[in-house]
Amino acid sequence: MDREAILTMPPRGTLAEAKDFAQRHGAWIAARLGRMPKAAPFAHGTLVPLRGVDHKIVHRASERGTVWAETRDSGERILCVAGGVEHIDRRVHDFLKREARKDLAKASQAYAERLGVKVKRISIRDQSSRWGSCTSAGALSFSWRLILAPSYVLDYLAAHEVAHLVEMNHSAKFWRTVGRVCGHTERAKKWLDTQGNDLHRYGIHE
Ligand SMILES: [Zn+2]
Repeated sequence: MDREAILTMPPRGTLAEAKDFAQRHGAWIAARLGRMPKAAPFAHGTLVPLRGVDHKIVHRASERGTVWAETRDSGERILCVAGGVEHIDRRVHDFLKREARKDLAKASQAYAERLGVKVKRISIRDQSSRWGSCTSAGALSFSWRLILAPSYVLDYLAAHEVAHLVEMNHSAKFWRTVGRVCGHTERAKKWLDTQGNDLHRYGIHE
């Protein structure tokens, strides 16, 4: 991603403070830049696109369990959240991170086998600047928000990061490697370019 925000510091401000501010207010900065539609906090009634399919958050205070998906007779998809209302946000976050980890681990493993490389570790983070990253030691890291995108987008990100274990750059050779194993590369890149920013508004409070 290559959009940027300029942060102006007071004369006595330290770089560490500025960095901290930008990290804590990433969503706010994005909103000021006009990149973000309305915040969609995880609360009763909010629509959350799980794997690209809208699910309405429904609070079920009296039921046991944490978070689970259901389809109503009408066909409407819902994300049920048990327990106290004060736990909805945390529970939905945790659920989405777990689902993201599951899908990304599975996809990364499959691509690693095809490319003959080893994935050492997968971390799921809330990194707002990038969807994924990779170290030469085989540690992959992804944004949990990818679970909100259509599945082929998450799948492409897994292919992209695993392909870095073959080519640690964005050369033509790298893109050939990605394209060879992932048939929806262009479609996924286009989706991220045009709709990726929208994923940043979920779970954010105004
Ligand atoms: Zn890359």
